[in-house]
Amino acid sequence: MAVPKIWRKIPEYYNLIGRQCPECKELYFPVRDVCKKCGCLEMTDYKFEGKGQIVTFTITRTPISDPEGENTEIPARDVPYAVAVIKLEEGPMLTAEIVDCNFEDIEIGKNVEVVFRKIMEHGAKGVIQYGYKFRLC
Ligand SMILES: [Zn+2]
Repeated sequence: MAVPKIWRKIPEYYNLIGRQCPECKELYFPVRDVCKKCGCLEMTDYKFEGKGQIVTFTITRTPISDPEGENTEIPARDVPYAVAVIKLEEGPMLTAEIVDCNFEDIEIGKNVEVVFRKIMEHGAKGVIQYGYKFRLC
């Protein structure tokens, strides 16, 4: 992700801020400018509590292979790591990494809460990108 795009996404990634429709009260994460339910264009920011439940998950044990080294958007990372689809208490679903636990403890239906962590680093002197991950609670 290019640096300016990261800056634009900071409120979303650092605070779990989505949108709420003032007309029908529908909540969205990530941010939407138009309500999918009623077409309202006056969406307002909404800060989610950061609690939810695991809907499904996967554990990646094999690193992403890029033998040509052409894809600089996907930096190498340590494996294994766990990624889950999480349904927030307020309703919207999102995908996030699950951290700070034994992978054997991750189960569908378990409660999770948001934590803010380093997501990736762009090169040796590059920008360090922070964002949301979740842990069991
Ligand atoms: Zn609406």
